[in-house]
Amino acid sequence: MRIEPEAIDKLKREVDLVALVQAHGVSLKKRGQSWVGVCPFHDDNTPSFTVNLRTNLYHCFGCPQGDNGGNAISFLMKKKGLSFPQAFEELTSAKRRPSKESQKQKTVEDQRAKNRRQKLLGRVVNYYRRCFDEKPATREYLAARGIHDNAAIEAYGAGYCDGSLLTIAPDDPEVLGDLKALGVLTESGRELFSGCVVFPLLDETKTPVGLYGRRLQDGEVNHLYLPGPRRGLVNRSGAAGKVVLCESILDALTLSCHGIQSIPCYGVDGFSDEHVSLLNRKQVTEVIVAFDGDEAGRRGSDAVARQLREGNIATRVCDLPDGQDINSLVVKDGIDKVSEILGFKPIATKPSEATQSSPEATVATYEQTSYGFVLRRANRIYEVKASISSPRITWRTSRQRAIRRSPSRTGAVISESSLPTCKPWGSKPPTTYAASMLRISSTCSVGSRPRLACP
Ligand SMILES: [Zn+2]
Repeated sequence: MRIEPEAIDKLKREVDLVALVQAHGVSLKKRGQSWVGVCPFHDDNTPSFTVNLRTNLYHCFGCPQGDNGGNAISFLMKKKGLSFPQAFEELTSAKRRPSKESQKQKTVEDQRAKNRRQKLLGRVVNYYRRCFDEKPATREYLAARGIHDNAAIEAYGAGYCDGSLLTIAPDDPEVLGDLKALGVLTESGRELFSGCVVFPLLDETKTPVGLYGRRLQDGEVNHLYLPGPRRGLVNRSGAAGKVVLCESILDALTLSCHGIQSIPCYGVDGFSDEHVSLLNRKQVTEVIVAFDGDEAGRRGSDAVARQLREGNIATRVCDLPDGQDINSLVVKDGIDKVSEILGFKPIATKPSEATQSSPEATVATYEQTSYGFVLRRANRIYEVKASISSPRITWRTSRQRAIRRSPSRTGAVISESSLPTCKPWGSKPPTTYAASMLRISSTCSVGSRPRLACP
């Protein structure tokens, strides 16, 4: 039987060589663009056997020259002593029905990559949040649209992408590959949200699973999302009591600034099962759908209202004046007029949890990160970063010692100038540090300056 050369090339290209090698008892570890392991063909003490992901070829640095590398077909011929047609046939039929073993291996790998990327997205979100505070233009942009309540802005997790992510990301092909897989970087390596104010979309555990970006300078496309199916919501805590469902994040944020409970959709067609399940779970009493005053908005709000009513959620559609959205209306007519349209009493004070000035507002929140911790108070964010290799480690060890020495005294005073900074990607999470800081975590109390109370 003659085998077509094209079929051979196709098979060589398409067989998962890593999975094939692993299925034949060779354990491989990922290193950059390659997978490395102990060679099955010679007496190997050091891992000399590599599989290159790009070329889909293997190579051994210990085997005799001329017989030290090849493709999937030659690997199988050598490993099992098969002829070329036998190896070809075996691989072709294996490709038709993937073995349970390689399926399982693939599932494990996929899960691992998914977890890794999820963590990475969390770091990107943290970085964007930091950039937000360093770039006055973002606050100016929001202020120009009538959004200036810092607590609400923070509750929405607002960030800014200034295009500098790669200057702080490690030069590691895996990280770059993951950023592209997430869509944070485009195929050409550019940051997708460059020049955008960004908001994280959170899952039920408040983990970022998506991103929305709004360009500061209007361009061809002003609303951006990570590619792939849309997941996660913004401002989950806005679902309580009587809720306004807005068409966009900036609309909802506008209302949140004035103490009106609201959650956003992602455009007229952006109402999802996640919204329904959140509204059901939080047992909201009424949903007021307030999409834009245009044809698409009206069509969208009718569809959403139908869906809500089918789910037995009390729903009212609020028809906005022609050409207006919630944000433009608040800017033009003021919140009193808009709350009247929405059927809320005019808001004298700001009773929402995001904006209230109760004692909690003067208490800092503390959040452990993989590289240190973040302390937030009002509109200030104190982010402490440390890596094992950083010389600035002295700051934290001396603090730790100070805390240990006098456990009854109020702990370290943190001021912006005393904060050490380094890349958010430390070499490894500083574990002893993390453990020590965790004990301090929930008792952050704040005096005139933020203080970390002792455990
Ligand atoms: Zn070898």
